[in-house]
Amino acid sequence: MRSHCPACGLVLDPYRADDAPAYFTIFAVGHIVVPLVLVFERYANQPALWVHAVLWLPLSVLMALILLPRIKGAVIALLWAHRIGAPKPTPDSLDLSP
Ligand SMILES: [Zn+2]
Repeated sequence: MRSHCPACGLVLDPYRADDAPAYFTIFAVGHIVVPLVLVFERYANQPALWVHAVLWLPLSVLMALILLPRIKGAVIALLWAHRIGAPKPTPDSLDLSP
């Protein structure tokens, strides 16, 4: 992720999406691909497993590659909109001496 927005210069470092984009991407791709697999299995007269592998593996990877950056952008935008940013540690905050 970039540290600054190239358009407005907003500092993006405090907004850490962590695993949320991957989770939402898996959730979306799964809810699209699994019904397609089931419908195909039902109406294509139970095709061989290699047909499923050739169809659904590339589709799943392609959808994940398309969706992941957009979902990550949306998660970071939500974090920014709700002002949920992890404060960056400063030398003063790390000083634990009494
Ligand atoms: Zn911006």
